[in-house]
Amino acid sequence: MFTKILIANRGEIACRVAATAKRLGVKTVAVYSDADAQAKHVAVCDEAVHIGGSAPKDSYLRWERIIDAAKATGAQAIHPGYGFLSENEDFAKACADAGLVFIGPPASAINAMGLKAESKRLMEQAQVPLVPGYHGADQDPALLQREADRIGYPVLIKASAGGGGKGMRAVDKAEDFAAALDSCKREAINSFGDDAVLVEKYVQRPRHIEIQVFGDTHGNCVYLFERDCSVQRRHQKVLEEAPAPGMTPELRARMGEAAVAAAKAVNYVGAGTVEFIVEQPGGYDAPEQMKFYFMEMNTRLQVEHPVTEAITGLDLVEWQLRVASGEPLPLKQEDLRIHGHAIEARICAENPDNNFLPATGALNVYALPDCVTFERGAVRVDSGVRQGDAISPFYDSMVAKLIVHGDTREQALARLDEALAQTHIVGLATNVQFLRRVARTDAFASAKLDTALIPREQAVLFHQEPVGLPLAAAAAVAQALLNERASEGVDPFSRRDGFHTHGVVQRRFEFEFGGEHAKALLTYERGGGLHLKVGEGDAAVAGPLVFGAAPQGAIELQFAGQRARAAVYAQGEVDHVFTPLGATQITAIDLLAHSGESAAEGGRLTAPMPGKVVSFAVKAGDAVTKGQPLAVMEAMKMEHTIAAPADGVVQELLYAPGDQVAEGAELLKLVAAEKA
Ligand code: ADP
Ligand code: ADP
Ligand code: MG
Repeated sequence: MFTKILIANRGEIACRVAATAKRLGVKTVAVYSDADAQAKHVAVCDEAVHIGGSAPKDSYLRWERIIDAAKATGAQAIHPGYGFLSENEDFAKACADAGLVFIGPPASAINAMGLKAESKRLMEQAQVPLVPGYHGADQDPALLQREADRIGYPVLIKASAGGGGKGMRAVDKAEDFAAALDSCKREAINSFGDDAVLVEKYVQRPRHIEIQVFGDTHGNCVYLFERDCSVQRRHQKVLEEAPAPGMTPELRARMGEAAVAAAKAVNYVGAGTVEFIVEQPGGYDAPEQMKFYFMEMNTRLQVEHPVTEAITGLDLVEWQLRVASGEPLPLKQEDLRIHGHAIEARICAENPDNNFLPATGALNVYALPDCVTFERGAVRVDSGVRQGDAISPFYDSMVAKLIVHGDTREQALARLDEALAQTHIVGLATNVQFLRRVARTDAFASAKLDTALIPREQAVLFHQEPVGLPLAAAAAVAQALLNERASEGVDPFSRRDGFHTHGVVQRRFEFEFGGEHAKALLTYERGGGLHLKVGEGDAAVAGPLVFGAAPQGAIELQFAGQRARAAVYAQGEVDHVFTPLGATQITAIDLLAHSGESAAEGGRLTAPMPGKVVSFAVKAGDAVTKGQPLAVMEAMKMEHTIAAPADGVVQELLYAPGDQVAEGAELLKLVAAEKA
């Protein structure tokens, strides 16, 4: 085993690799760009080397610098993670030339599988089933069109060098082929510097099922079963699970053996994934009719490898390190078993409601699931960031992966839902609530899987507002009251007896919610209870408000027939409310801060909230100008200045400093300038 390795990556995968290295007593060297100087992966490694600017081409893709860093720190091997240099055969060769071990397959295997078209030709020879298609070297557009016509529409044009869901065009009819080909080639040359394409049958309602394989330098190769990655958006994986629902032992063995044959055909060593597209001609409930075709082989550790780890109980990074250091595979095929079911959700900084636009910003709140509510190992979070970190525009939008395991798929699904509900991220848009909705669709819950699940279910996946105004407002009010109690020791209003002269004290709240203005009225009842009315007129929802503090700063809430545990995080005036139903935002309008405007209504200067008059800045007869401070009030341990809403003359002060005033009490009489 190595004593020190360099991790040529960042984010969650760099942290993931470092965790196993640490467990095995292997020292780690991180590399980092300008943007990542304070990143988590730098913090978790034993040493770190700065390798350049923030853009990947200036740092994580500069392999000479990475190799220099490995030599300078005495690392014996380089783990490339996924993405970046992981499938770069020149880098693999350069490592070998520098006397370093590349923790991955031989450069020749990367090369053989690097281009989709060439790898398909190889697989054809190895008798691995292929999607009917054309993957020849001749790229004459007329020939490609003829091939597409022969295959029959719809067809898929794929950039041979493509990856990450890019460089693909589905074509429904012959007339559209030429234009789609042009656009695919343009994207391919821009993204991959190579415009060669292949054409294949567009499989209808397919599933994406991939097989994890592992080879060693002693000629052994095994498969670690399958992962179903059918839930995708724009050909990119969103949820992944293992084993694949509906998989039969017979089909598993056939697919596993085909994947091993594919790996052996290129003398594969290390972790690899053979991706298959699976046709379900008999529909979702007829797995015996499923037909699988080779799509591509990813010659690296895959993002979704943790679901395989969860069901096999193995550490694939440990296997990678053992194999790279020359050890044989720890287990034989017949020793491998599947335990239970695992699901992974990719948590990304993006806005699903805005076409999955990536989001950047700071992770002001980054609260992850409370893993102790589950038995050990049932919930795992692989995260590359910490609270307070920023998501920069330079890299992938994936910030973390949530992996759950259960005895059955149902149990795993329930844990996923709960874990996602406990994932509270504030500061930028994420897909957390979207992931919950996807996992809750009947289609996913009943494992009616295919790659069009998300587009088909879009009506319930996008632009959803599961938390209504009443619950959001109740959570915001409860949080405000809890904050007051925390800062004063007791509820300030229970001490201000003067407010109880009419039996009750009322307090006004105003909110912005879903683009609408909303009012709420809180009544402190004589018996100590609270009554809340949210909204006005016929739309008003009213009833007792009952709440109490729950663990981790959450609130147990009961209002208007709803009972929920809510977590409220204030960011300026915006309260981010997380409940088991979903998450929402509500903006609390600070009535005291805006009192100048609101009190001006009707020409009266009224106290917007119950509180104490601290001082008057004016006396009767003073001429004042708009915006000039008139009085200072104190409420909730804060002083608030009440300003003149318009030019005018002070006629009379109605209270003295030290007086307690109720909400709505008129503080002074001001005669506006034109009337004076
Ligand atoms: P998976 O490992 O599950 O197949 P992805 O397809 O999303 O995951 O790819 C893993 C990572 O590698 C992602 O960060 C993706 O952006 C990147 N990636 C994959 N293929 C390419 C490619 N050909 N060029 C650039 N980046 C790629
Ligand atoms: P990438 O390199 O971007 O991962 P793949 O060739 O692996 O590209 O395909 C990515 C996804 O595109 C698959 O998971 C599947 O959803 C879809 N796809 C690929 N080939 C086909 C096909 N022939 N028919 C239908 N969908 C396909
Ligand atoms: Mg793929």
